Amino acid sequence: MKKSTGKIIIIVAPSGTGKSTLLKMIFNEFPSLLWSVSTTTREKRPGELEGKDYFYTSKDKFESMIKHNEFIEWAKVHGNYYGTSRAYLSKVISEGNIVVCDLDVQGTDSMIQNFPDHTRAIFIEPPSIETLRLRLRKRATDDTGVINTRVNNAKSELLRKHDFHYLVKNDDLDSAYEQLRSIFREIIG
Ligand code: ADP
Ligand code: 5GP
Repeated sequence: MKKSTGKIIIIVAPSGTGKSTLLKMIFNEFPSLLWSVSTTTREKRPGELEGKDYFYTSKDKFESMIKHNEFIEWAKVHGNYYGTSRAYLSKVISEGNIVVCDLDVQGTDSMIQNFPDHTRAIFIEPPSIETLRLRLRKRATDDTGVINTRVNNAKSELLRKHDFHYLVKNDDLDSAYEQLRSIFREIIG
């Protein structure tokens, strides 16, 4: 892993900030980037696809995968497990690829700790907590209880916004995208 020239770009943002929206735009512009598909125990949302958005699994299976050291990092987020495949990430990085991960702050911390020379993390913040709540409502994929949990977690995640390599505010989508694409250009080199 250490000798490789690959890179890991992490997008870290409270749920509902707009990272999926921005990442769709990034992948259209930078098609050579690879996407790290995480494994999760959360339920599949309408429109999501197995193997594209996530690998969906049970709690028991996820815990057995933890025991077998199959995750390079994993975390419990909003009451569900999420993890990054050790086999996939190690392979694509050793082949010199640039891989993009969507991780929470715990996963981002552990990836930076494990691969400090390979990893760059971009925190994306919403304009305000109220806007975040409105975006989660507008997306209409989660019920009120889940939205409240996500908004509460956002408050603690936002305390960490200055701890990473880059910070972008997603207020106006086009200007957030402009900032993000120049950060990607800089990292990709
Ligand atoms: P995340 O992936 O961070 O959970 P999404 O990309 O699903 O968030 O965005 C949440 C909702 O907010 C979606 O309905 C999306 O269309 C909307 N959205 C994203 N960025 C903006 C923006 N800059 N202005 C207004 N709405 C936005
Ligand atoms: P969502 O359920 O909205 O898709 O994701 C919820 C949270 O889990 C987001 O903060 C997202 O970044 C995080 N997440 C997704 N995949 C992983 C992963 O593999 N590892 C970690 N640590 N967090 C993840």
